[in-house]
Amino acid sequence: MAVPKRKTSKARRDKRRANWKLSVPGMVECPQCGALKLSHRVCKACGTYKGKEVISVGE
Ligand SMILES: [Zn+2]
Repeated sequence: MAVPKRKTSKARRDKRRANWKLSVPGMVECPQCGALKLSHRVCKACGTYKGKEVISVGE
């Protein structure tokens, strides 16, 4: 079994972990209202998904 020759240094390990949060939330701009929303989710600002499919939003 392949085993790492050297221990991963704290600096290298922490640099690896410094970036993971950047990619986790799949945020995209809503095509309807332009607000940032999670991709593949109904926009909570305007309540639309794929053009319409309206859920009622506050106002
Ligand atoms: Zn929207």
